[in-house]
Amino acid sequence: MSQKNFKKLFTIYFIIFGTLISIFSGIIAYNIQLNSFKDELDSKADEIMIIKKFLILKEEVDNLDNIVKSLSNSTTLREFVKHKDIDELLRVEDMFLTITNMNRDVMQLRYIDKNGMEIIRINKRNRSDEAILIARDKLQNKASRDYFQIVSAMKDKKVWYSKFDLNIEHGKVEIPYKPTIRIAIPLFDDSQRFEGMLMVNLLTKNLLDSISNSSTFEHFIVDKDGNYIVHPDSRYSFNKYTGVRRTITKDFPKNASNILSKQESFNNSYVYKLNDIIKNEDEALLILKPKKEYQEQFLKDRILSTVYIILLSMLASIFMAFFASKKPSELQRALFLAHRELKRFASILDKYVVSARVKRDSTIAEVSSAFEVASGYSKEELVGQPMNIIRHEDTPLLLYTELWKNVLSDKAWDGEIKNKKKDGTEFWLEQHIVAVKDEQGEVESFLSVSQDITLKKELEILSSIDKLTGILNRRKLDEFLDYEVEIAKRHKHDLSLIIVDIDHFKDVNDTHGHQVGDLVLFEITKMITNLVRKSDIFGRFGGEEFLIICPHTTQEEAFVLSQKLKEEVSSYHFNKVGYKTISLGIAQLTDDDDAQSLVKKADIALYEAKNTGRDKAVIYSIS
Ligand code: GH3
Ligand code: MG
Ligand code: MG
Repeated sequence: MSQKNFKKLFTIYFIIFGTLISIFSGIIAYNIQLNSFKDELDSKADEIMIIKKFLILKEEVDNLDNIVKSLSNSTTLREFVKHKDIDELLRVEDMFLTITNMNRDVMQLRYIDKNGMEIIRINKRNRSDEAILIARDKLQNKASRDYFQIVSAMKDKKVWYSKFDLNIEHGKVEIPYKPTIRIAIPLFDDSQRFEGMLMVNLLTKNLLDSISNSSTFEHFIVDKDGNYIVHPDSRYSFNKYTGVRRTITKDFPKNASNILSKQESFNNSYVYKLNDIIKNEDEALLILKPKKEYQEQFLKDRILSTVYIILLSMLASIFMAFFASKKPSELQRALFLAHRELKRFASILDKYVVSARVKRDSTIAEVSSAFEVASGYSKEELVGQPMNIIRHEDTPLLLYTELWKNVLSDKAWDGEIKNKKKDGTEFWLEQHIVAVKDEQGEVESFLSVSQDITLKKELEILSSIDKLTGILNRRKLDEFLDYEVEIAKRHKHDLSLIIVDIDHFKDVNDTHGHQVGDLVLFEITKMITNLVRKSDIFGRFGGEEFLIICPHTTQEEAFVLSQKLKEEVSSYHFNKVGYKTISLGIAQLTDDDDAQSLVKKADIALYEAKNTGRDKAVIYSIS
C-alpha cells in the first residue's frame, strides 16, 4: 500500500470509527433524554392530578357537601319539616333563595317531601341570573324519578350524587348544554322516619373546565362504560347525552379496554380514578394524555440536540483523524522504506551470496540465485534433490561425516569444499554451515552460506605452478620445504633434499636457441616426474635447477634415486641437442638444520659434483 493510500485509509477508518461512536453516543444521549422525558411526564401528570383531583375537585365537592349538609341540619328547615307551618315555609324559601343566589353554580335547589312532591323549588336559568322561586301550582310530583327512589330508600344521612349529565328540561337536553350534577340528602324526623329530601342541581361547566386543561396534557373524563364526560374537543363531551357517537377506542386505540377494565396508566398516558372524590354511578376516570405538540416539540428538541452532538463529534473525529494519522503514516513510511531496503538487501544477498538450505533428510529446500550461478543448476533442478547432486568425487566422504557431526552437535562448520557443477567441472565453496532450529528447539534444517572460491583456487594453483614445466615453482617449493622440515623435525622423520642442475646448459641455448633449451628443460622435468615417488615433492628451483624434497628418506636412499635420475637423463637422446647430463647435490636434514641450511648443504654438494667432473651425484659432507 502506498503512503498516500495508507493515510487516506487510516483517516477514513478513523472517521468511520468516530462517526459510529458519535451515532452511538447520540442514540444513548437521545434515550437518556427520552427516559428523563418519561420521568418528567410522570411527575407532571401526578402533580396535575393532585391539583385537579384533590385541590379543585375535592374542594368543590366538599363545598357542595357542606351546602346540603348545613341546609339539612338548619333549624329553620327542620322546624318546617316538623310542623309544615306556612310561616316557616316562607322562611325556608327565603333561605333557599339566598343560598342559590350566593352560589353561582347552583342552578336549582329543591325540597321534595316524603311523597315525592316538590314543596320548594328555586330555579336559576343562567349562572349570573337571579334565582326565582317557582310558583306552587307549577310544582310537580317527582315520586317516579330514579333519584327520588334512590334517596328515599337511603337509611342514613349520606350525600347522594347523580351521574354527570346535561340538564334536561321537559324531557329534552337543554341547549346550550348545561353540564349538571345533582346532589341530594334525605331528611328524617325525630323518629328516623323519611321526611323528604333536599336536592341541589349544580352547573358543572366551570368545574369541569377548570380541571380539563393544562399546557402539557389533553384531559379526558370517561364514565365506566367509556362515554365521554369531558373530551378535549368539547363536541364529544357528554356524548352519551348529545347523541354524538364517539368511543374511547378512537382516542386510545390500543388501550381502550385496559383503561376501562384495569384502570391502569400506560405508555405516556395516565389514568386516575375519581370515584373516591365523587362516588356516583359514573365511576369516572380522569385520563391525561400528553399533547401531541408538546411531545413533538420535545422530540424535535431532543433530535436536534442529538444531531448537533453527532455532527460535532464527527467534526472532531475528522480533525483527530487528520492528526492521529500523522504518526502512524510516518511509521508506515519508515516501515515501507525499511522493507524496501530489506528487500534490496535480500536481493543483493540472493544475487551475491551462495546460500542453500538443506532439510534434515539432506534434500535441498531452497537455494539462492548465486548458488544457481556457482553450480550451473537452476533452482527448479536443485530443490528437492539430495545435496550430493553437487558432490565431487575428489572430496573425501570423511569430510562430510565430520561436517554432519559438527552441525548436529550445534557447532558451526567452516571449510572449503570442492563440488561438481552441472557440466561436470569443479567449483569450490568456502562454506559456513549452521543448523536451523524450529520453535521446539529441534534441528529442522541446515543453512549453508558460502563464497565461491573457484577463481581463488585456480589462481592459487596457477601461482604455485611453473609455467614452462608445469611442476611446482620456487615459491611453492619454499613453502613445502618449510612445512616438511618442520614435520620431519617434529616427528623425527628422515628428510633428504636433492638439487638437480643441468650440465653446460648454457651451451644448449647458445648453440640451438632458447626454444630448444626450453624443450630440453621440459623433457628432463617429465623424466624426473616419472621417477620420483608420489610422496616426493618435485619443483623448479630456478633456471635449469630443480629441487626434490624426499620425506622419510635418508641421504643414501636419496643418492640411489639421484643415480637413477642421472642414468635416465644421460641415456636420453634429445632432439637436435643430442645427449645431456645432470649433476645432483644431496643433503639430509639434521637436528641443527632448518630449510635454509639444508638447501645450502645440498648446494654445496652440487658444487662439489660440478667441480669433480659433473654427471654425478654427491652427498654433502662437512669436509
Ligand atoms: P654448469 O651448470 O655445468 O656449470 O654450466 P651451465 O652452462 O649450466 O652454467 P649456468 O648454470 O651458469 O648457466 C645456466 C644457463 O641456463 C643460463 C641460462 O641461459 C640458461 N637458462 C636458465 N633458465 C632458462 C630457461 O628457462 N630456458 C632456457 N632456454 N635457458 C635457461
Ligand atoms: Mg645452474
Ligand atoms: Mg647448469
